[in-house]
This record gives sequence, structure tokens and C-alpha cells, in this order.
Amino acid sequence: MERTFIADLRQHIGEEVKIQGWLQVLRDQKKMQFLVVRDTTSTVQVAFWKGNDAALAEQISTLTTESALTITGTVVDNPVVKLGGLELQLASLEVNNLAESPMPFEPYGDTLPQLDFRMDWRYLDLRRKENLLLFQVQTTAEFAMREFCQQNRFVEIHTPKIVGAPSESGAELFTIEYFDRKAYLAQSPQFYKQMAMAAGFERVFEIGPVFRADPSFTSRHMTEFTGVDMEISWTQSHEDVMAIQERWLNHIYQRVKDVHGEQIREVFNHEIVVPTLPFPRIPMAEVIQILKQRGYQLPADKKGDIDPGGEREIAAYVKEKYNHDFVFVTDWPITARPFYHMRHPNNPNLTMSYDLIANGLEITTGAQREHRPEILKKQALEKGLHLEPIQFYLDFFRFGCPPHGGFGLGLSRLLMVMLGLNNIRESVFLFRGPTRLIP
Ligand code: ATP
Repeated sequence: MERTFIADLRQHIGEEVKIQGWLQVLRDQKKMQFLVVRDTTSTVQVAFWKGNDAALAEQISTLTTESALTITGTVVDNPVVKLGGLELQLASLEVNNLAESPMPFEPYGDTLPQLDFRMDWRYLDLRRKENLLLFQVQTTAEFAMREFCQQNRFVEIHTPKIVGAPSESGAELFTIEYFDRKAYLAQSPQFYKQMAMAAGFERVFEIGPVFRADPSFTSRHMTEFTGVDMEISWTQSHEDVMAIQERWLNHIYQRVKDVHGEQIREVFNHEIVVPTLPFPRIPMAEVIQILKQRGYQLPADKKGDIDPGGEREIAAYVKEKYNHDFVFVTDWPITARPFYHMRHPNNPNLTMSYDLIANGLEITTGAQREHRPEILKKQALEKGLHLEPIQFYLDFFRFGCPPHGGFGLGLSRLLMVMLGLNNIRESVFLFRGPTRLIP
């Protein structure tokens, strides 16, 4: 017999079906046994009349919660049953995997242990309905990302993660042994997505792993994360990049709201607000003034960057003034930006770049890139880089590389803000941090 998903049972009233899932609750009564069984689509009550088969009733009595079961039975319409108004009358039971008891914690129990403990037992933690929904949302979001890209002539690429030269600053770089020499784990697909511009692909995107040897313990950093990157040819400035990114995000939010909005409200008590276009834009210099006026003291060592508290404060300002959850902070000083960002033609101290802050959290850095090889070389030297290791990259700009711009976004950060979570450890399948390599 083919397996039926629990959400589809209503189409099978009166029929014998097979379901497969986890035992969430067992109520063993005098004459009847009730099992609440869960699969990824829903839950259903399964009923068994003990008098039907004493041996089977005894076996059911020994079942532990979270055991993996295969059950056959007849679907009956039963309006008094709270779960979906139907019930499955059990005919046969196969115990595929009996859960040991006690479990480290019960994903559907009354108390939820601390996050760190749940991370030790992440596969049990992932059984909670919040987590299943989160990854269903992520699936829809990634689908929408690709859908937008396909509708807008983007090509998907997968760039190497073992690299011979760092694309960002030498800090936060993982070094690996590569036969008889050193290699690095890619800190971003930056150089290679730009290579795709030199290759004439015009518009590319990548969803892939990014590695950062960042030793800090924050609620928004991981040593490995999934980056979503775009690069677009023929842009004239970062404004063109922002214009695409905001349309793209609007599309993603709309899809997630259409598919999961109601369930997100129910499970996370959170409303998906599709961001209206255009998102507000504020130049960095103005952001600093606004923060000052609001009495927010930026740390002295920031070199033109803003800290997480500043990000939250500017988000609060934008919410009050524009009733918007997103803000592009534009035109960053060169001190806070890498060598490959293009500089303003009439202000060489400013880059044509932006960060996108969503609900007070940075989720993206984007920029118009410098595509003129001589200027690019000069900027690299100014930043103290040696040209030899990045010569292969500088070569990309020698034979007809169009002007271009792009951005990088952290997938788990997007999920955090989308669902109102306050720790990135909750929005990634498995967290990787300085002290976390297992499971
Ligand atoms: P931050 O200032 O928060 O450390 P960053 O400026 O180093 O971030 P970028 O190098 O611009 O970040 O990377 C682009 C995007 O990738 C960020 O906006 C963020 O969404 C995501 N990201 C960066 N570093 C991490 C990290 N360690 N863990 C998770 N996501 C990250």
C-alpha cells in the first residue's frame, strides 16, 4: 500500500490507508488507546479498541513518544475529534524505530531546554513545529530567489570554495593544507562572481557556503554560513544594484507571505510584512548625524562603520519616520570598504556602496565594483595588498569587462529578520561557531 500524507487523509474517508510518522502522544485508556501521530504535513488521532486484539493493545502500551511508526487503518469522519475532525481506526502497526526513554528532551514536551543543550540534540530540536516551518519557509524563500532570477535573465553559478588567495581582508581566513601548499576556504564568492561578468554572463547569482574564521560569539555570526550573492553587468552605480535587490526581496517576502503567512502568525506569533518599494536610502554621513541627534554614541574605533546598536537605532528612526522595516545605508567611507568598491567620481573618500539593514540587523553589503584595471590596482595597493596573489583577479578586467555591481546576503540572517528570531543559531540547520563543530 502506498503511503498517504496525514494532510491528505480527508480525501480518503472510508478507505484503508497507510500513514508513517512519529508518535507525539499516547493516551492509554481502559478500553481504548489513542495515538497522536505526526508527519511533516500534519497530525492525526489514531484510535484502537483494545478488545479487538489484546496482543496488539499490549504492544501499543509499550510505545514511547517520538517512536517512528507505520500504521494502517480506516479513515473515519469524526467531528468531535479536535485534530482535523477525523480519526484513523488502527488495523496494523509496525514499529520502525522505538525511541529510547527517557529522551534528552521531548520536542513536544512542556519545557524547552536552553538553546545550547538543544543544539547538542539538534535533530530532536528540529522535530519541533517551529523548526519544520522555518525550513519550509527557507525552501520557499530560496525558490522565490531563484524564480526572480530566472525571470530576470540571471544565470546560477557555483564557485570554488577552496581558493588560492583571499578575496576579502586576510583576517577571518581559514587556512587549509592543500597537498604541499596552503589554500584557503572562500570568505565570499566575490572574485569569481566578478569573473562571470568578465565571462560575459551579464547577470549571475549563487547560493552557497561562505567561511569566516571569526572568533567572536555574537547572536548573528557563524564561521560557516550560506551566502546569497548576485552580480549584475552594466550597472552605473550602487543605485542600480539596490533597485534590483529591493524588487527581489519584495518578491521573496510576497511569496513567503502567500504560502506561509497564516502559519507563521500561528506558530511564531509574527506577521510577515511585505516591504513596500522603494526602500528608504540614507547616506552614511547622514546616518552618523541622525545617530548623534538621537543621542546614540558610536564607538570611537569604528572608522566610519556603525555598530549593531547603531544599526538598531537607525532602524528605529526609519520605522518612526517612514514606517519601513528596511533601510539602505549608502555611500560608505573608503576606510570601511574593500579595495574593489568603486569610489564616487566627485568624492574619492566615499565608495558607491551600501549596507541593507532589515529590522535593525545588517543583512547585505552591496556596491558598484571598480572595473577599470589601473584604478583597481591603485586601490589595492592603497589598501596595502600585494598584487601578485590577486593578479589572476586583476586579469579579469583586461579584455572587455563591463561595469558591474552586486551584493551578498546572509541566508540565515534573512530568516532571522523574516521570522522575528533573535539568535542566528535558531535559523540555521546546524550552527558552526568557534567552539561548535559537533554534531
Ligand atoms: P558584519 O559586519 O555583520 O560582521 P560583514 O560586513 O562582515 O558583516 P559581509 O562581508 O558584507 O558582512 O557579508 C555579506 C552578508 O553576509 C552580511 O550582510 C551578512 O548578512 C552575512 N554575513 C557576514 N558575516 C556573517 C557571519 N559571520 N555569519 C552569518 N552571516 C554573515
